[in-house]
Amino acid sequence: MTARPQYDLHCHSTASDGLLSPAAVVRRAAERGVDVLALTDHDEVSGLAEAAAEAALTGVAFVPGTELSVSWHDVTLHIVGLHIQPDSPALLAGMQRIRSGRRQRGMLMGDSLARHGIPGAYEGALSFAANEDMLSRTHFARFLVEQRHCRDVREVFKRYLTPGKPGYVDHVWASLADAIALIHDAGGRAVLAHPGRYKVSRPAMRKLLTEFKDRGGDAIEVLTSSHTDAQAQEFVGHALRFGFLASCGSDFHGPGESWLDFGELPPLPPALKPVWHDWAVGPRVSA
Ligand code: AMP
Ligand code: MN
Ligand code: MN
Ligand code: MN
Repeated sequence: MTARPQYDLHCHSTASDGLLSPAAVVRRAAERGVDVLALTDHDEVSGLAEAAAEAALTGVAFVPGTELSVSWHDVTLHIVGLHIQPDSPALLAGMQRIRSGRRQRGMLMGDSLARHGIPGAYEGALSFAANEDMLSRTHFARFLVEQRHCRDVREVFKRYLTPGKPGYVDHVWASLADAIALIHDAGGRAVLAHPGRYKVSRPAMRKLLTEFKDRGGDAIEVLTSSHTDAQAQEFVGHALRFGFLASCGSDFHGPGESWLDFGELPPLPPALKPVWHDWAVGPRVSA
């Protein structure tokens, strides 16, 4: 029996805002049937070596990745880089620039939450961050759950930490052009992550896809835990119309905290050209 190989090209570890160590992420993916896995920590590559070593032990084909934070007009976008060289000096310097504002933003978020009756959130969030350089809204969310302000992380994002809500602080990340250039400099492919999640009008989405294409963007995520079936269909159409390669990934952050676990995505529709179509990396084929 040879089932179709399972690709999961988007997930997180404790190197950014995931709950599991890079090695534990790989083990979980392997146990749940993933054949080809990319670890894509936010603005960070420090988990890749550990993940690659574990992948070699478990037989998972490993793809080094990252997920860069981008500001496009007033929208925050995420651009996944796949098959990057993690030691690319341009990429390392670029990610350091993106991360450097996180500490300051975190302090302002803490001040904002304190004004709304939640003291100590900056220090509390830091205590949840294994990588203090990568302080994320997710770490604040975990602190608010621990302090019983909310039942779970999803409720935190509904009530706090999102535009217009207490604890949200605007931040300017990398530009779209810079993020694509950093990924290309590192030999990778630039993938627009979870496009259905951006709160933009239809014309603005077309503008975004046009600009991403014009600037050299390679692929879009069609299948992700963030998409409804209707959104997956919509982005299948956009991938075909704009000539993007297609990618897929769970965006797994941790047990009990994610919409989808490893091994739960359906295969990409056959009409699409996968982002991995010409990769040498692939699942081991046994005769
Ligand atoms: P940051 O890069 O620090 O602004 O944090 C962004 C992260 O917050 C995302 O990568 C998600 O992990 C998490 N996040 C954003 N919105 C939500 C949401 N509605 N529910 C759960 N997690 C979310
Ligand atoms: Mn995240
Ligand atoms: Mn994302
Ligand atoms: Mn992600």
